[in-house]
Amino acid sequence: MGFLRLIDLPLAGKRVFIRADLNVPQDEAGNITEDTRIRASLPGIEHALKSGAAVMVTSHLGRPAEGKLAPGDSLAPIAKRLGEMLGRPVPLVQDWVDGGFAVKPGEVVMLENCRVNRGEKKNDEALARKMAALCDVYVNDAFGTAHRAEATTHGMARFAPVACAGPLMAAELDALGRALRNPARPLVAIVAGAKVSTKLTILRSLAPKVDQLIVGGGIANTFMLAAGLSIGKSLAEPELVGEARAIIDLMKARGAQVPLPVDVVVANDLSVLARANRVAATEVRPDDKIFDIGPRTAAMLAALIAKAGTIVWNGPVGVFEYDQFAAGTKTVAHAIANSKAFSIAGGGDTLAAIAKFGIVDRISYISTGGGAFLEFIEGKMLPAVAVLEQRAARR
Ligand code: ADP
Ligand code: MG
Repeated sequence: MGFLRLIDLPLAGKRVFIRADLNVPQDEAGNITEDTRIRASLPGIEHALKSGAAVMVTSHLGRPAEGKLAPGDSLAPIAKRLGEMLGRPVPLVQDWVDGGFAVKPGEVVMLENCRVNRGEKKNDEALARKMAALCDVYVNDAFGTAHRAEATTHGMARFAPVACAGPLMAAELDALGRALRNPARPLVAIVAGAKVSTKLTILRSLAPKVDQLIVGGGIANTFMLAAGLSIGKSLAEPELVGEARAIIDLMKARGAQVPLPVDVVVANDLSVLARANRVAATEVRPDDKIFDIGPRTAAMLAALIAKAGTIVWNGPVGVFEYDQFAAGTKTVAHAIANSKAFSIAGGGDTLAAIAKFGIVDRISYISTGGGAFLEFIEGKMLPAVAVLEQRAARR
């Protein structure tokens, strides 16, 4: 199914409402410490302005209580920064749900923190209808909140005259679709990180689709248990060994693989001073904790990654935050960076690893949508995307 795209629509003279994700980090004084999300939202806003639309932009910021705006919850600093980027003032409108503010074609205003409006989080229909009446074209450009059905992410899309995806949302959906709907083979997924329990749905949803399922980190420890290996005192979830075995069997039945570590890096404790030892995967002692894959395993995974047509990466394969345990993740990261495959990556700690190893520009697509990215690769339908597709189908 498809969705309408902002760039394909006539916008001159239209009132265009853009639900963006401008939820940037701020310090205690309210200064913006990192403005990637504002910059990422510029193409949609600039396109609408250039096309002669009267543009309204809103976003959530922080976690305000509905019904009252605390000073720290205001979009004022974001409106100011957006104005600097656009080279024109961006007035901030308070109490905007019932209208009563003016914006002319070719102008842009920012509508105060949408999560302050009563009914936003519950996707209240009356609120959504009122907000939808403010516009001719509703644009969702906030992929990061696409897994939540709220009044500005879902309800408005139902009731606005036209509902479409902004360029950022469209780029995310195009990249994720290319990786998972019709991927160039072999499709290699790296699912790593701390715990099987937080990634179980992802593992189950990817196992039937991928050619190689590379597990790493604490997740690999549970898979090692399932394969009958000793893991000492490593982080693992013994209660999920049955799940791990089921995934290994499912992959095997399809002629696909879950390669397990052949060597690992162990220590007695996690600290900057911890002494790290490389041992064979069959020689982990009762007091050992596995904090990284070993160099032979890393080389083996790098070789699999080099042959991939498509790579999906979520989760570091070791405790990369400590230099003694970073080599595995570094090798995997560089293998992905050097590969000719279409690669996508997402997840909070994964993005930190990508930044640490300096390969940001060598991943085909880095997803900005933490929770939404994970739900997409879990195979779930994102409500904010589903409603755009329903609207497109009814035209
Ligand atoms: P993401 O945020 O990218 O989805 P996760 O939150 O699932 O990733 O996992 C990241 C965390 O897993 C990192 O903080 C890392 O230190 C930790 N980790 C990786 N390998 C291990 C391991 N062998 N033992 C304990 N923790 C690990
Ligand atoms: Mg994390």
